[in-house]
Amino acid sequence: MNKPKIVILGAGYGGIMTTVKLQKMISVNDANITLVNKHDYHYQTTWLHENAAGNLHHDNTRVPIKDVVNFSKVNFVQDTVESIKPDDNKVLLKNGGEIDYDYLVVGLGFEAATFGIPGLIENAFTIDSINTARLIREHIEYNFAMYNNDPEKKQERLNIVVGGGGFTGIEFVGELANRVPELCKEYDIERSKVRIINVEAAPTVLPGFDPQLVEYAMNSLESRGVEFKLGTFLKECHPDKIVVEKDEKREEIPTLTTVWAAGVRANSIVEESGFENNRGKVEVKPDLRAPDYSNVFVVGDCALIMNKETERPYPPTAQIAMQMADIAAHNLKALISGSEETEEFVPEIKGTVASLGDDDAIGVVFGKKLFGWQATVMKKVIDNRWLLKLGGIGLLLKKGKFNIFH
Ligand code: FAD
Ligand code: NAD
Repeated sequence: MNKPKIVILGAGYGGIMTTVKLQKMISVNDANITLVNKHDYHYQTTWLHENAAGNLHHDNTRVPIKDVVNFSKVNFVQDTVESIKPDDNKVLLKNGGEIDYDYLVVGLGFEAATFGIPGLIENAFTIDSINTARLIREHIEYNFAMYNNDPEKKQERLNIVVGGGGFTGIEFVGELANRVPELCKEYDIERSKVRIINVEAAPTVLPGFDPQLVEYAMNSLESRGVEFKLGTFLKECHPDKIVVEKDEKREEIPTLTTVWAAGVRANSIVEESGFENNRGKVEVKPDLRAPDYSNVFVVGDCALIMNKETERPYPPTAQIAMQMADIAAHNLKALISGSEETEEFVPEIKGTVASLGDDDAIGVVFGKKLFGWQATVMKKVIDNRWLLKLGGIGLLLKKGKFNIFH
């Protein structure tokens, strides 16, 4: 009898954890497992803002796939998925090949939502991979280096705009607030000349989060020189300026550096491949299968699940992606062995912790508010926990965050 072919797309939180679980749960005699990913490494997306600001080297954020996936049990294909043909059980790859599957796990993550804002795709940076984070770090540093070599000393080299004051935008400005004084020292620039501007459309940053913690975050960031433009929409992005609008009044801000962190959508491959979708995401069945294809599981940011209490979708988070991986792996095993029922996915939201730089943070964990050093420690514990889950104590000791007390 032919062994069933399981193909996993993407080595992010959802995809790599599904793979790591499956390689332990399923014998090579029972199924062929293939993991497809663009790069030969996994990266912790949740650390990328630290790399983008230049506070943490990107090698700390990535893990070679061979270090956590057993290549004698899993076939690894380094390639870019171009499209999925769910009617034919095939995945088409950039390098021309195609892969057949009996069961598929889609874990291709997110991409920036740009809402059709003119100039964003062409001129703004986004924090979504090691490559984009490294580019932002280099670009900022280049402009600091250029400033004193530029006869005009253009202010736009020193104005850094971050669009969106959600968790990504706030975590990134927190890192920048710590990095900028170091860059100023290195390139002989007065700190007062540099502007870090956070543009948020809602009347407050972190809309919907605990107001006391939001106030704490704003005070912490403002005391380190971050300017907030609240109730302000980023309307256009040009190579050397942005246009913002507040109360129907427009303003131009000269800048060579706009980082767009104002929302995400599922990888557009999902929508383009013809899956039934809700604004680009697959609203999965309780056991994480696509409603229209019972051999396709969708995990992480490509999947949509509703919170029955709030009647709103759960936000796309690594926390949920890794929990989904546990259930997807369990359910695949159940289907292959034919002996067990599939399990329902029930998210267990433990809380939210956001960094404000390496030395400050805010959060709510199991209903308890945290800020300052307690939240900072908790954030690092969360980051370390992932490493432990993914690669055991060896990976934790190699890449873990142990500079807990400042
Ligand atoms: P991802 O982790 O994004 O992985 C997708 C994988 O697919 C990547 O390896 C990518 O290279 C690969 N891939 C993509 N396209 C292709 C293709 N065409 N072909 C082959 N491979 C492909 N969530 C939290 O819970 N806590 C946090 O503290 C937190 N912090 C965050 C900080 C930042 C800066 C950002 C941007 C997000 C943060 N999030 C956080 C959200 C979290 O990162 C995402 O929800 C999570 O990464 C989603 O996991 P995933 O497995 O769906 O996709
Ligand atoms: P988000 O959707 O949570 O926030 C985007 C923000 O941009 C919103 O506040 C929105 O009002 C604003 N915005 C939208 N359009 C705008 C415009 N034209 N001009 C100005 N502001 C505009 O997106 P995110 O921050 O990228 O987060 C994505 C997901 O990742 C979320 O689910 C989030 O919870 C998760 N995340 C979690 C953490 C953490 O837990 N520490 C950190 C980062 C991201």
